[in-house]
Amino acid sequence: EPATSAPTTQVDSLCPYCGVGCQLTYHVQGEKIVRVEGRDGPANHARLCVKGRFGFDYIHHPERLTRPLIRREGKPKSLDGFDPSRPLDVFREASWDEALALAADGLRQIREAHGGRSLAGFGSAKGSNEEAYVFQKLVRTGFGSNNVDHCTRLCHASSVAALLEGVGSGAVSNPVADVADADVILIIGANPSANHPVAASFIKNAVKAGKTLIMMDPRRTDLARHARYFLQFRPDSDVALLNCLIHVIIDEGLVDQHFVEQRTEDFAALREQVADFSPERMAPVCGIDADTLRTVARCYARANAAMIFWGMGVSQHVHGTDNVRCLIALALITGQIGRPGTGLHPLRGQNNVQGASDAGLIPMVLPDYQRVDDPAIRARFEAAWGCALDPVPGLTVVEIMDAALAGQIRGMLIMGENPAMSDPDLNHARQALASLEHLVVQDIFLTETAAFADVVLPASAFPEKDGSFTNTDRRVQLGRAALKPPGDARQDLWILQQLAMRMGCQWPFQDTAGVFDEMRRLMPSIAGIDWQRLLREESITYPCHSADDPGQPILFSDDFPTSNGRARIVPAGLVPAAERPDTEYPLVLITGRLLEHWHTGAMTRRATVLDALEPDPVVMMAPSVMAGLGVGPGDMVRLYSRRGQVEAQVRVDAGMREGEVFLPFCYREAAANLLTHDALDPWGKIPEFKYCAVQLEALASC
Ligand code: SF4
Repeated sequence: EPATSAPTTQVDSLCPYCGVGCQLTYHVQGEKIVRVEGRDGPANHARLCVKGRFGFDYIHHPERLTRPLIRREGKPKSLDGFDPSRPLDVFREASWDEALALAADGLRQIREAHGGRSLAGFGSAKGSNEEAYVFQKLVRTGFGSNNVDHCTRLCHASSVAALLEGVGSGAVSNPVADVADADVILIIGANPSANHPVAASFIKNAVKAGKTLIMMDPRRTDLARHARYFLQFRPDSDVALLNCLIHVIIDEGLVDQHFVEQRTEDFAALREQVADFSPERMAPVCGIDADTLRTVARCYARANAAMIFWGMGVSQHVHGTDNVRCLIALALITGQIGRPGTGLHPLRGQNNVQGASDAGLIPMVLPDYQRVDDPAIRARFEAAWGCALDPVPGLTVVEIMDAALAGQIRGMLIMGENPAMSDPDLNHARQALASLEHLVVQDIFLTETAAFADVVLPASAFPEKDGSFTNTDRRVQLGRAALKPPGDARQDLWILQQLAMRMGCQWPFQDTAGVFDEMRRLMPSIAGIDWQRLLREESITYPCHSADDPGQPILFSDDFPTSNGRARIVPAGLVPAAERPDTEYPLVLITGRLLEHWHTGAMTRRATVLDALEPDPVVMMAPSVMAGLGVGPGDMVRLYSRRGQVEAQVRVDAGMREGEVFLPFCYREAAANLLTHDALDPWGKIPEFKYCAVQLEALASC
């Protein structure tokens, strides 16, 4: 509530956290946001979760960056990081002119000496569509390569790879709200109650209204309480489980033959692939009994309308793309796609990971997933941007870190991402960041990544800027500035344009609307959305091809956006996790998020209420694991993997299976990714965050 009775102003905007894209109103008193309330947006109908309602005061935190910083001469880049409350020990303050000149000079000198491919950039899924577009344009035209990526590589890159290959579109086919039209809702590898809480509330409403919920996950999480069927399968057995369901559907004649014949191709290869995946054979592999496998397959296939949701439990594996291929096949062979209450919905993580991907923050595609190695597409962008483009797809997040360590990537710009916390095998990633000749970080706090910067540019937080953001439903929505950035911090778009100018790019953008206008001219999917329409309507779903197109919430009703209009069924075989448990490291580590904290914690751990609710690193495990270790709730344990170790408090989680532990990755003092493995899915290039081998040790209590 407001601290005083002074009047407040109201600014309509969006929640800065997850991909649900809840609309909200900021209540502002003077220079402070004092309260947030939900608005009646299409994705939330005035609902907000704890992050949206209470997670806003990070913007007023005393550690906000308010002046450009330059590394002090002789201050080494320490792998142990530094205390963000004492930045002047490592950096000195500088004027914008000095900082921008140093930032751009360093990048330009590397480009001139070693070529554009020796530079790379990580953009941000938390920034606006316009910021993402300008960022990738800067890397492609100013740096001179396609080495541009962002955290989609760490969350749904495998989903996008499989969806583009199978159905010709990397986004969801149906919105979350379609659960009201579904008979059956199947959720696999996702924990919506913690990670998409408002979406979870609509799913709970649907169950209350009589819909059948099937949950499949190695962890029993909150939403499983509402499920008619909960399949707690063994981690790493996703393909076995899904191929088994497909086997039952084919074996029992539940295939929608008409849909398969008219709308798909390559069904025969799938039938052959799954022939050996009978319930009897797969039951011991998945840890699910054969009768339950049969029942669930029938339930999904026989539904009038069935919808599939999935999260990173599916995508973050070396077989993440294969997992999604199986989900696509499941929907295609049963005809559960192209109608209300059906379809495929990868629950997108960050508030704008969909929009940032659409805008081209991906190394192999230009905006709107137009391939950079297609000469005709490249020529169109070269004409629009007035310069030649690198024809070779760039490196992905983990590949960029590897190339930095090998001396092939020498300079980077990182905006609003924190790879020193979010990348797998952090010791490796931090060494890579430390080895860069020149690192420019643009952010609102001195993150763990900024510890390795040569120049730090203080940027704007979500409530300090105007911009469009695209939620998990493909809704393009407006965020509005409620405050000015503090001190000398600046708008991200301004910073990017200043860097671009100093790298030799002359761009015509006057404002955010001008950037969006250029985007819509190059991106057919949003051609029908203009800034005035967005201001008027607040939320428009793409594809939206013309001014009178209302937008298309449900895709694939008549055909698929593939070369022949048909969806491609791609069979998947079994590929084991990169690192299996053994006698030395006998437990499986699963990493993920907590309800109260967002990703690497840079924002939520500086939000008073959220940090008070979950202040300390915790590791969740089954009571039997605790008993075996002789520890109780709150005791400290050390977790080891072959790559690192962390210490955390034990928390009992009766939803965990024996032999597995769960560690959130938001705590810098116990960074989960010190333990994780950097093995990649070969198609999506996504790391295997959901599976590696660890050991536990009880620490003596003091
Ligand atoms: Fe924000 Fe997501 Fe919570 Fe909505 S569900 S309030 S978008 S974190």
